[in-house]
Order: sequence, then structure tokens, then C-alpha cells
Amino acid sequence: MSGRDFHFVMIKPTHYDDDGYPIQWLRSAIPSNTLASLNGLAEAARNRQVLGKDVRIHLHTYDETNKRVRPEKIARDIRKAGGKALIALVGVQSNQFPRATDLARRFLGLGLPVAIGGFHVSGCISMLDEMPEEMVRLQKEGVVYFAGEAEDGRLDDVFRDAFSDDLKPLYNFMADLPSLEGEPTPILPTQHIRFTAGSHSSFDLGRGCPFQCSFCTIINVQGRKSRFRSADDLEQIIRDNVAQGIDRFFITDDNFARNREWEPLFDRLIQLREQESFDIKFIIQVDTLCHRIDGFIEKATRAGVNRVFIGLENINPDNLMAAKKRQNKITEYREMLQKWRAYGATTYAGYIIGFPGDTKESVLHDVEIIKKELPLDLLEFFYLTPLPGSEDHKVLSSKGSWMDPDLNKYDLNHRVSHHPKMSDEDWEEAYRQAWASYYSDDHIETVLRRAAAHRKGRPGNKLFLMMWFKLMVECEGVHPLEGGYFRLKFRTDRRGGLPLENPLMFYPRYLAEIVAKHWVYLSAVWRVYRIYRRVKASPGRRTYSDLAIAPMNRSEEEDLAMIRETRGGAEAVAKQLRDAALSKAGKDRAKAASAL
Ligand code: SF4
Repeated sequence: MSGRDFHFVMIKPTHYDDDGYPIQWLRSAIPSNTLASLNGLAEAARNRQVLGKDVRIHLHTYDETNKRVRPEKIARDIRKAGGKALIALVGVQSNQFPRATDLARRFLGLGLPVAIGGFHVSGCISMLDEMPEEMVRLQKEGVVYFAGEAEDGRLDDVFRDAFSDDLKPLYNFMADLPSLEGEPTPILPTQHIRFTAGSHSSFDLGRGCPFQCSFCTIINVQGRKSRFRSADDLEQIIRDNVAQGIDRFFITDDNFARNREWEPLFDRLIQLREQESFDIKFIIQVDTLCHRIDGFIEKATRAGVNRVFIGLENINPDNLMAAKKRQNKITEYREMLQKWRAYGATTYAGYIIGFPGDTKESVLHDVEIIKKELPLDLLEFFYLTPLPGSEDHKVLSSKGSWMDPDLNKYDLNHRVSHHPKMSDEDWEEAYRQAWASYYSDDHIETVLRRAAAHRKGRPGNKLFLMMWFKLMVECEGVHPLEGGYFRLKFRTDRRGGLPLENPLMFYPRYLAEIVAKHWVYLSAVWRVYRIYRRVKASPGRRTYSDLAIAPMNRSEEEDLAMIRETRGGAEAVAKQLRDAALSKAGKDRAKAASAL
């Protein structure tokens, strides 16, 4: 080895399906923000020549959801090129930890040093008194952990330690969250983007959140104090990406509406779009009170936001209180969704199943209410999951309650704990039926009719997205967010501990699966396409109206099932009226005082 070259291999691992094969696609759904952020930092470190003028730093990025990782080949290539190396398994979530463990062992066996970072490592170090067993075991085998964020020159230090064979067992920056302003911008090489459906790139503009939802890991990893990138940083990100031909972006901040710099950020995007004709589009995530922020939705859509993820989580105030999601007011949901609809944005909402007040019947009743009364386009369901790093996990751990020991299942698409009221079977059945009910042909038709009734409704786009969600769940057995097009499976990549299958069994079955799935895809698409054509051809499509999209006054809203039939709905309305009266009285007092 020459010692004058340093290879930094960044791998975002996937996780295993129920048969033990890594979930991989020809085209995956969403590119990894962590990979983009770390690659941006690594490029900056290379440009600054942090290992000295005579050391060439080589960067290699792998998103395992769309690119197979072959440790033996990577090791061979590094050996051939010469020099030292560090394998970084990045952004590893709890459900990806078993896959990261298998990869780490293979790289260690090939004599390459391995570091693991991401939400599992950071969350466990932040919330648990002791490192969990699986982490301790791997650390003893030689894996290095990185907890916290890599900005502020921290990656440079890791490079230097790796280059001088002096890596520490743990880099712990949890107590010191860096500022993001002026930090290198997240960027991924174009070939990654080509392997994502819709060719989106992703980046974050802020980290941290002031709220305290008990199921959330973000607040315990990224902190409750929000930190932001500046409008100049944002412009740089856009220009760098557009120069590579990338103009569709997913801004990964969990709650962009609480980014106090939202307005200058949107203004800069508006300027790029309206004065320099940048054809850029964005997906953002917001909370249910974003419509109360003056001008937020108007500016968001002018800035190019055309899809919005909303953390609805539940429509029962008692469940929201139990999860400390006090900021969600069900009385605001309709108005907020109607406003996004008026501005032509497609709305997605997350709905968590398994809060303490839920029963199978109540969950399915809630789904019916949402279908009827909320003008929502896409709904995605999740099991309430005690993710390591969340308050829920800490509480269950301290009580010694059962949690599934297989971290691979902590993908929000598997049940990993018991429910206080529902049997395991009822909980799983409620989850399955909720998906089936929302993505039934009848409801797809309703969503298309609502879209066709609005001049900015884009029913074709809604149809595509609804079918994507439906088919990922029904055909592929994965959550839509980790889905993709054309499932790849490699016989020899099976999960450690499971036997390798006989090729004569594996390949014919894989082929049969592909044929069967494509048959289901085609027949489902043909069926809903006929619905779409019917909706588009309907002469009265512009005048269609229903309970979800019709304008209503406050007293009519009080009659909605979402208010009358949810647990705590009526109290929520009473509180809203009380708050409004108090706020009005305050304003009147201030007005009277200023008139004196
Ligand atoms: S609003 Fe989102 S990021 Fe903030 S605490 Fe709740 S779940 Fe976490």
C-alpha cells in the first residue's frame, strides 16, 4: 500500500425483508439525506486537503437501496488502488442495524476499519444508561461508533485518525450540536439520483424540533433547539444540484414550519424561480398548524413546494395527548388541508396505529372518518413503535416490558410491542385493514374526483402516487417510503444466521415472483386507469363536491364525525372556542390600552 491515498467509503445500508434478503430496487424511492450531507462534508475535507497536500482522498458512495454492496469487491478495488481506507456505515437506523452489523463484520474480516453512525447509535447513547448488547458486541469486534453530527470539522478529525491508524472506539458529540450555517452543502453524485424514482435529491435546512412527541427520536438525537442553514447555503445547494441536472428535491427537515428562517428561505427560492426561471420543485414536511403562519402556504407553493408531508398522527385528542403531541389540533386539520389543496399541493399524512386508546374497531372507524371528512390525498399508516432513542423506548425498557429483540423489525411496518387493549392479532389486522380501506378502488375514485374538481388538482399525479402506495404495501410487502421499482434480490446476500438457499429453489421462485407481481401491477393499473378515465370524462367533474372539500362555517364543522365521534373531539372544540375568546379579549384590551 502506498499510504499516500485515502479511501472513504460511505454506505447507507438498507434492511432485510421478512425472508432475510436486503430490500433493494432498480429504482428506489427517496435518496438518503445523511449520505448527501456526509458526502458534502467529505468533499469539503478533500478540497481543504485535510490529510496533507500529498494525500489523495477518494470518495465512494453507496445507497444500498439501489446499489448492491459487495465488500470483497470494494476491498479488492481499494487494495488495487493502494492506500488506507475507512468504511463508514452512515445514517444507520435501528431497523438497519442488523444489516449494518453483517456488512461491518465482512469488511472487518477483509482487514478494513469500519465506523457506524446514525440514529440508532446516537439515539441509544443519548437515551440509555448503558450501550445495548448488540452495540457492545460489535464494538468489541473492532467497530468504531460515531454519535452526533459530523459538521464543525469533526469528520476531518476522523479522517486524520483513520489515516494514522489511530481510530477511537467512540466519537461522542451528543452534548455538542454544531451550527449548520456556512457548513458544506449536502450533495450526491448524479448517478445516485438517476437510481431514484422521480430523480429527487434530498437535503436538510434545519435540525432539531421544539416539540416533545414521546415516540420521536429526532429530539433526542438532533436536540430540541432548532439550528438552520441560511438562504445563501440554500441557494448554493440548489445551484450545485441544478448544475448536475437535478431540480427536484426532498427537504428532509421533520417540521419545516418550525424553521424560523422559513420566510427568507422561501423568498430565495421564489427569487430563483421567478427571476432566474429555475424549474425547481420541492417536497417538505410540516405540522398541522402551518396554515396559521401568515403567508407560509402561499410562499411555499410559490417557492415550488408541490408535495407536503403532514404529521397528522391521529384524530383522537386523547391519543395525541398521550403521545405528548399537544400541538396537533384536530379542529385545524380540515382548514389546513383545504388551504394546501387550494394552492395545488398534494398532501400526504402519517397516521400512527397503536396509541393507548385505539381498538381495532376505533382505528377502522377513524379511517372512515378521514376518508369522508378530510381532503387528504395520501395517507400512510405506521405502527406505534418504541424506537431506540425515543422516550417511549426508554419507558418500556425501564419497566422491563416486552419489545421484539429483532431490530430489523423496527421499520414502523411491523408490530414490535404489545398493546394495552388490542391483542397482537387485532393490532396487526387493524393495520392491514387500514391500508386496504384507504387504498380501495372506491376511495381512489373519491380522491381523483376531488382532484378533478380543482383546476390545480392534477388527478393523474394523484393516481400515480396512490397506486405507488397501494402496490408497495399489497404486492411488495414494504412500506411505501422504503419501496421502489423492480425488486432486486441476491441469493448470497441473505441475512447472517439464515441458510443460503439452493439456487435451483431460489432463482425459479424469484422469477415466478417477478412475473406474478407484474401481472398484479398491470391488472391493478388497468382497473384504476379506467376509473381515472371515467372521472376525467365526467361532464360534471368541475362541480363535484363532498363533505371534505366543501366550505363550512364553524358550527357546521362541530357536526362532523371527526368532532362528535372521536375521543376528546367535543372538548377540543370547546377549548378552541375558549382560546379564541381569550385571544380576542387580549387583543381588545391591548387596543383599548393603546387608545388611552
Ligand atoms: S413534531 Fe416531529 S420532530 Fe418534533 S417532536 Fe414531534 S415527531 Fe419529533
